[in-house]
Amino acid sequence: MSIKAEIMKSLKTEILTLKLKPGAILSETALSERFRISRTPLRDVLKQLSLESYIDIYPKKGNLVSFIDLESVEQMIYLRSVLEKEIIKALSAHLPLKGVHELREILDKQQAVIDEDEDSERFLGLDDAFHQSLFQLAGREFLWNLIQQTSVHYARYRRLHMLRKEKLVDIHNEHQTILEMMMHKELDQLDELIDHHLREDINSRYLQENFSEYIKA
Ligand SMILES: [Zn+2]
Repeated sequence: MSIKAEIMKSLKTEILTLKLKPGAILSETALSERFRISRTPLRDVLKQLSLESYIDIYPKKGNLVSFIDLESVEQMIYLRSVLEKEIIKALSAHLPLKGVHELREILDKQQAVIDEDEDSERFLGLDDAFHQSLFQLAGREFLWNLIQQTSVHYARYRRLHMLRKEKLVDIHNEHQTILEMMMHKELDQLDELIDHHLREDINSRYLQENFSEYIKA
């Protein structure tokens, strides 16, 4: 990987995991010292991060980690719920046994995280793994990857919601229900379930009360 690609990757990870918080200033001086890179290639990295909505570049204020844009979150939830409903319908018509095992294994691991009270970071990774498996099993991994490239706002929004421990049990139960629905081909409640699962009320008081400083005004 080129140096620029490596720096890009570290900064993206730090932004997505909220180590670098929305609104944090990314000073060129500090970054060029930290990564031992000169200004010109660093600016290329920053420009790319800005094109991908990870940061916003202001002529006077400098480079700021982007605030979470709830409009973008809403659009991403819409896209995912439309796709995932279709994917689950397709899978319920033909769900290979291998897929059942794969999904069960992920659910067991999620249960273990809940039981052992591990951090929600691991749970979040397993949540992605569950949804990614659905896309893969339906032959739609290309779309999964496409979505990942544009979900900087949605990814951070989800991470904030999962800081609440009680959410994890709900999420695990809903995954369980999704799997059972596919296995028994009982899809009457599917739309409702997926809407609830993906659409955590995006203007929720929880977010406004605890993280309003991260939200784009
Ligand atoms: Zn999920």
